[in-house]
Amino acid sequence: IYILAIESSCDDTSAAVLQNKKVLSNITATQQIHEEYGGVVPELASRAHQQNIVPVVHQALNKANIDKKLISAIAFTRGPGLMGSLLVGTSFAKSLALGLNVPLIEVNHMQAHILAHFIEGQGDGSPEFPFLAMTISGGHTQIVLVKDYFDMEILGETLDDAVGEAFDKSAKILGLPYPGGPLIDKYAKNGNPKAFPFPKPKVEGLNFSFSGLKTSILYFIQRETAKNPDFIEENLADICASIQSTIVGILMDKLKKAVKQTGIKRIAIGGGVSANSEIRNSLKAGERKWGWKTYIPKFEYCTDNAAMIGIVGYLKYEQNAFTDQAVSAKARYVLDDKG
Ligand code: ATP
Ligand code: FE
Repeated sequence: IYILAIESSCDDTSAAVLQNKKVLSNITATQQIHEEYGGVVPELASRAHQQNIVPVVHQALNKANIDKKLISAIAFTRGPGLMGSLLVGTSFAKSLALGLNVPLIEVNHMQAHILAHFIEGQGDGSPEFPFLAMTISGGHTQIVLVKDYFDMEILGETLDDAVGEAFDKSAKILGLPYPGGPLIDKYAKNGNPKAFPFPKPKVEGLNFSFSGLKTSILYFIQRETAKNPDFIEENLADICASIQSTIVGILMDKLKKAVKQTGIKRIAIGGGVSANSEIRNSLKAGERKWGWKTYIPKFEYCTDNAAMIGIVGYLKYEQNAFTDQAVSAKARYVLDDKG
């Protein structure tokens, strides 16, 4: 089975070709244009998708070295995401499926961040069911009980900002360009995580909250730079390390709670923030300390990519879960939505 997959939910245009569970190609065009605005501008994103989608799909097919006549089905991200961005991928996928006369398969982007673990060749292998998944991305922060490929239950989620937003907004306060998450990770490597203690929020159950942290970082920076205008520059590594360890601490506390609550020690993470080095290290430490088995995606399958859409396409293909041409993009598309 060959699946051609298309992802366009936010600001990355991506196409991939999979042969069963194996990724033959995974090409992503990242949009630089949003950097100067400090966040994704939806109107610019959809225009860039329109420019990128044809070359990206071409490259994916070329790199996979297969003729498009061999494609068994087209998988695409139906949602959640930015409507204008989703529309580009959705209409392109629909027309291509029609043109090639192959089935169409719609994919939920958040399920894909989790099911990316079933791509062949993931470093930690694929988790057995049931397992806990923590999706940590630019738009979501969820702890999910995964009972089967398409049987997932959200146990907890953020009440306000997503964890990726917490990273990006903190970075913005420090004057770093968008997306700032990877930069905080980079500077934190040379810093002392205990230099500046920030308060952790108290949130019931397995839910999260990050907006209070963002505010306390803002006030802290305003206070310190009023005293010393070079405060950020002189302490960047320590500030980044302190922010990062607070955020990762919040995530780890909730994971521990979820393990205690469910008795499940198989934990998979997904979404862009899974690229963060401290969360990766903390999870591996959890294996030694608490007997967890953790599953961390390869870097290229953490942030948005079409390979993860392709693996869901393959899993749905096996179940004959095809999508009608009447399908439309769905900006709000919850993980456990069955239709
Ligand atoms: P969603 O998947 O919820 O729709 P999204 O697709 O915009 O949101 P992803 O591409 O999955 O999000 O993740 C992007 C986020 O990951 C950004 O907020 C970015 O800062 C963050 N991120 C990427 N690498 C790192 C890192 N090393 N450390 C911290 N955050 C990171
Ligand atoms: Fe994503």
